[in-house]
Amino acid sequence: MTQETPRKVDMEKIVSLCRRRGFIFPSSEIYGGLSSCWDYGPLGVELKRNVKEAWWRVVVQERDDMVGLDASILMHPQTWEASGHIEGFADPLVECKSCHLRWRADEIKDNNCPSCGGELTEPRMFNLMFKTFMGPIEEEADVVYLRPETAQGIFVNFQNVVNTTRKKLPFGIAQIGKAFRNEITTGNFIFRSREFEQMEIEFFVKPGTDKEWFDYWLEERLNWYVKLGLRKENLRLRQHGKDELAHYAKECHDIDYLFPMGWSELEGVANRGDFDLVQHARSSGKSMDYFDEEAKEHFVPYIIEPSAGVDRSTLAFLCDAYDEELAEGETRVILHLHHSLAPIKVAVLPLSRREPLVALAKQIHADLRQCWMVQYDDAQSIGRRYRRQDEIGTPFCTTIDFQSLEDNQVTIRERDSMNQIRVPISELKTTLAAKLSGEELFVLPPGGQIWKKEKWRHYSGKRKNCLSHKSRLNGQRWIHLLGSSSGLWDNVIFPIPRSSKSWWNHTSDPCHQVWM
Ligand code: ATP
Repeated sequence: MTQETPRKVDMEKIVSLCRRRGFIFPSSEIYGGLSSCWDYGPLGVELKRNVKEAWWRVVVQERDDMVGLDASILMHPQTWEASGHIEGFADPLVECKSCHLRWRADEIKDNNCPSCGGELTEPRMFNLMFKTFMGPIEEEADVVYLRPETAQGIFVNFQNVVNTTRKKLPFGIAQIGKAFRNEITTGNFIFRSREFEQMEIEFFVKPGTDKEWFDYWLEERLNWYVKLGLRKENLRLRQHGKDELAHYAKECHDIDYLFPMGWSELEGVANRGDFDLVQHARSSGKSMDYFDEEAKEHFVPYIIEPSAGVDRSTLAFLCDAYDEELAEGETRVILHLHHSLAPIKVAVLPLSRREPLVALAKQIHADLRQCWMVQYDDAQSIGRRYRRQDEIGTPFCTTIDFQSLEDNQVTIRERDSMNQIRVPISELKTTLAAKLSGEELFVLPPGGQIWKKEKWRHYSGKRKNCLSHKSRLNGQRWIHLLGSSSGLWDNVIFPIPRSSKSWWNHTSDPCHQVWM
């Protein structure tokens, strides 16, 4: 671990927030917990589901060359012989002769117990697979293993998928599922647990094209984290040295994240060559050849494997999103989670518990929850309710006040900027949909002057006139759309990037999408 930079967040704060707000609890806590096993609470399950959905969307849903799979956790024991796990999936274990704590020998620096400084035993290899028994008799012949990775379920189904989908190389199979490892040293919250979830891609390619696909997937996967909000400076690629490469790998890079405890692996991208398919062909006696119809040749494909952890990604997103700032004399804790990851998308907050306000708020809540996870909160002051939502990363709060009963408008308040706009209730859902899909929300800054009133016509001539205001403040230009044919951009204000020469001729704000 190198290149440490100061970080604002420490792990205790993340653990405490997760506990306090119901993201993550220790497993079977009432019995004192179970070492390195965790339960995802009401908010955690949503966050984790969103991480998995964000992954599935880009690697399966939006691609022609990928399909999904959900293989069983228990597999034929021969799988693990063929894969090399029975022989080789082991870590060197040492034990402290004084306090009897056990450690991974390759993580010990000076050969003394990190806890008490005591003398350590000689290392012995310890297999990380959990064993159990199939059927009522507990004997060696009935041993099965809880899978330590999801990948093998994909390899053994390679021919099934080729035959049923008629996919042509290059193509991939993606899978999300639980994996189990009897890790020697655990800790760092959900970073390393004994039961965890993986998101794995096995991408099958023609030998000779493997390097190019390896580079492609490395970049794709790195970009996925950046697009979902991880800061670039908190990510790095680390190539495995020759002595570190797994027995199956030709090349491997880790995508590391700067977790609170230092740089650590978030995802591994490996070029596995033809190792896995050849091994399973040998062990099962079934062909793993692929027939290339164009070249009229049979060969065993090479495999590129981007293997990510759901829990580690979730932890990285939480760490990167966590922030504290002073607002109105109080510390405001915010999770700047990407909209697509936020467990709750919108909070509905009636200003009072009195009728007929409550009826209107309930109606809005019922309407919005058809689209998103929405929370209704009417307890305590509005300021407190905003803070509660900021702390769990809710991007938008919708406030219903007595004015709403008269003008049929409600307030949308944005998490990061705390800016607010009023929108007609009839436009609430479409406005929130636009905002949640990435449009920015702005209001005219204090002191902003409207200096020009104009009528605009969409260049294609298809749209009706739109009334807009232009404004300048401290050199920043703003555009205030008073009305548009769709109604979506009514009363919305956007900043115009300083680099943009014209009012409309730029690409980075929503005006472009609507009006260019
Ligand atoms: P490490 O070196 O940290 O033990 P690894 O190299 O053994 O990880 P892989 O076998 O490459 O991990 O597994 C792929 C991904 O699965 C990892 O990048 C990580 O995100 C996740 N993962 C592996 N082991 C664990 C674990 N014990 N707890 C949580 N996630 C894990």
